[in-house]
Amino acid sequence: MDLNLTPQEKQFRDELRLWLLQNSPRDWHEKLAAEEDQHKRFAFLRAWQKKVYEGGWAGVSWPRPYGGRGATLIEQVIFTEEMTRAAAPALPGILGLALVGPILITFGTEAQKQRHLANILSGDEIWCQGFSEPNAGSDLAALRSEAVLEGDQFRVNGHKIWTSFGWIADWCALLVRTNPDVPKHKGLTFLLVDMRSPGVEVRPLRQMTGESEFNEVFFHDVAVPLENAVGKRNDGWNVAISTLMHERAMLGAGLQIGFRRQFDRLVELSQGLCTNGRPAASDPQVRQKLAQFHAEIEIMRLNQMRAISRIAHRGAPGAEGSIQKIFWSELNQRLQQFAMELLGPRGQLTRGSPHALDEGEWAYSWLRARGNTIEAGTSEIQRNIIGHFVLGLPKSY
Ligand SMILES: Cc1cc2nc3c(=O)[nH]c(=O)nc-3n(C[C@H](O)[C@H](O)[C@H](O)COP(=O)(O)OP(=O)(O)OC[C@H]3O[C@@H](n4cnc5c(N)ncnc54)[C@H](O)[C@@H]3O)c2cc1C
Repeated sequence: MDLNLTPQEKQFRDELRLWLLQNSPRDWHEKLAAEEDQHKRFAFLRAWQKKVYEGGWAGVSWPRPYGGRGATLIEQVIFTEEMTRAAAPALPGILGLALVGPILITFGTEAQKQRHLANILSGDEIWCQGFSEPNAGSDLAALRSEAVLEGDQFRVNGHKIWTSFGWIADWCALLVRTNPDVPKHKGLTFLLVDMRSPGVEVRPLRQMTGESEFNEVFFHDVAVPLENAVGKRNDGWNVAISTLMHERAMLGAGLQIGFRRQFDRLVELSQGLCTNGRPAASDPQVRQKLAQFHAEIEIMRLNQMRAISRIAHRGAPGAEGSIQKIFWSELNQRLQQFAMELLGPRGQLTRGSPHALDEGEWAYSWLRARGNTIEAGTSEIQRNIIGHFVLGLPKSY
């Protein structure tokens, strides 16, 4: 593949750069870090997504009739990279933008598309993903939350866990069992559930970063209209697998720019820090590790371009997303571990501590990175997928 941008891609990138320069908020990181109320922090991010939408930059690769820009997947990646490069705030409706929207575009009815896509783009409606359960994570098809069809509506009962954005979500992409009498993958249905429906109960879970980003969600006799099923009834596994493939293929896009930013900052910090009585930057071991990270971040960028180019040719993400997922999640954990070793005790100070480096970014990133090899499928599961679907090895389970 040709890794150089085409004239059209360059024009897209330059237009976006200019727009971000003129519109991206300044000093938002400090302001948001100082804001204790997570609802107020979220409202700020939501307003930012609205601005991106009104500027015509949300869902750039979505078809024009649904509010997108009709751009290519490479341009979608350029968008994510440029947002990170400009240090612009992240878009809070990420699950709607990266997962639910593409799934509705592929599997949804026209009515579902008309009802949801524009609100996903504008951030007026935030989505969560209700897949995992206390006894169904890696073995997702073992889930037990059930939906019973009564006339023209489902009655949903069950318990989901680790539901990111559950505390603020307006809608949930919910995977439930609709037929208990067939093999486990065959009796599932993918539903769109209004989180304001009577019987939905959300309980936030506190994480080691101090945030309550994810939640437990309980469904007690929740009524969901039949027309909110995506794809065929009992064929939810296909829709769910496609969702997971989008998650693995697209959520890593642009991350290497953030890693590169942190890497550059570590190089800068290593010049002022002392190890063994000399500047850390002249220590051969530190230099060796920095060189290794420099190379690995570049490998990640090239792998991402390769994966996107394959998706563009094939029309849907495939198992190569698992390669990217393992690579970025394990690289991030190694990078954060190195940062902790380089920065010493000061790196461990969290936001709000008087001597915290970079507003506690390093301590936060180290803690948050622990979940990277679990979320969107654990490293062991990604290795199983690569072994079986990419290398053609027999199933290990
Ligand atoms: C930050 C974060 C955000 C998340 N957000 C969401 C969300 O928004 N919505 C949602 O539905 N879920 C979410 N999850 C849940 C996530 O998808 C699950 O945690 C993940 O799929 C693993 O499931 P589990 O936790 O039940 O672990 P288990 O499946 O119980 O696994 C436990 C251990 O056993 C290993 N293991 C299991 N099966 C195999 C096998 N066949 N071969 C080899 N090893 C195996 C696993 O790798 C792991 O090490 C999130 C998780 C995190 C950490």
